Amino acid sequence: MTTTPESEPATTDREVELDETATIARDLIRFDTSNYGGGRSNGEADAAEYVAEALRALDLEPLVFESEPGRVSVLARVEGADRSKPGLVVHGHLDVVPADPANWSVDPFAGVVRDGMLWGRGAVDMKNMDAMMLSSLGDILRAGERPARDLVVGFLADEEAGGVLGSHFLVTEHPEVFEGATEAISEVGGYSTFIDGRRSYLLQTGEKALIWIKLRTRGTAGHGSQMIVANAVTRLAEAVAVLGRQQWPIALTDTTTALLSEVARILDVDLEQTSPDELVLHTGTAAGFIRGSLRTTTNPTMLTAGYKHNVVPDTAEALVDIRCMPGQEEAVLAEVRALIGDDVEIETMHTDIGLETPFSGPLVEAITGTLERHDPGAPVLPYLLSGGTDNKALSLLGIAGYGFAPLRLDEGMDFPAMFHGVDERVPLDALSFGSRVLRDLLATY
Ligand SMILES: [Zn+2]
Repeated sequence: MTTTPESEPATTDREVELDETATIARDLIRFDTSNYGGGRSNGEADAAEYVAEALRALDLEPLVFESEPGRVSVLARVEGADRSKPGLVVHGHLDVVPADPANWSVDPFAGVVRDGMLWGRGAVDMKNMDAMMLSSLGDILRAGERPARDLVVGFLADEEAGGVLGSHFLVTEHPEVFEGATEAISEVGGYSTFIDGRRSYLLQTGEKALIWIKLRTRGTAGHGSQMIVANAVTRLAEAVAVLGRQQWPIALTDTTTALLSEVARILDVDLEQTSPDELVLHTGTAAGFIRGSLRTTTNPTMLTAGYKHNVVPDTAEALVDIRCMPGQEEAVLAEVRALIGDDVEIETMHTDIGLETPFSGPLVEAITGTLERHDPGAPVLPYLLSGGTDNKALSLLGIAGYGFAPLRLDEGMDFPAMFHGVDERVPLDALSFGSRVLRDLLATY
């Protein structure tokens, strides 16, 4: 066989006709907006300018906010058909977590199209939704229509480092941009999973709280050959092992209770006779996300101690990522204290609130109704996100946030694993589906 151009795979970037959503998502992926945390970031300025330009092309007037040099968020207000209705915030973030090209099958910032999918950092989290927001809104406005109610569309900076320079900056410094808005939709929800072979959609109606703590132990410094009982590293390791291995009990909230009863109904099993963990095993690729939503988790994530192989250091430190149910923060910290003992210092480095919103009301009905029109018969279930989103910041303004970035996915697609994962990719047809659903929702709700 010769390698003529004809024998190349038919699914390279050049040959596939991309629709507007895929084109925007690809363009956004090509801006490397990596956010390394700790204030280190490539910044979102170029991606933000691209978005602002796209909004201007729709005759909207984007507001551009630069919290720190290069850290840019873009918002625009879109006048709705019924101005007496409270506004809806539709938001996405423009930053991404870093990607090591060595681990990827493709260049993570090239926006490669292969096998019917768009590949790249942000394809899942969350330049897909950024693109769906722009294309669905464009579709409405170019048709001479208006969204049903006022929208605040936001493309925010710094979400991957807690939103300090993005959502939190806006909520604190420019709350007026959200004036009149009472609800929000954004990421990590709205995608489909398979519950015993039945495609179902997960609508995110809550987020766990987070507490990031540092453990510090102190002991006797000395020569590595000595008999040292008060060894800071040994003591720290004990505490880390206790928290890492801790089997936290099931702690259900309204959201997870509703989710489990829906799963039991779909599986046709007795809720009383089946444990939550067993039910979750049947929730397809979302099981990993959902298992973490049923209980507190205490994951050790970083260790620091020592400077020389034959020197016992006098201190040792570990970072632990705690996620618990909304409102349970103090009780969980007290239990952590009891588990590891009084001689381990605990310093709280960062906290953020948990959220929970009812799986009912007009917006939830509009979302389930819209999905029913586009994927008839597929159940919509509430779920609690084990992580966090910019909805935490918006909640400080009394805005109730949901995770709804709609994607219809095939059964084999392990979508949740791709958040911050390697070879992040999204099917092109899922992007078009999402844009159509969003268009329908925004035009009718
Ligand atoms: Zn995200």
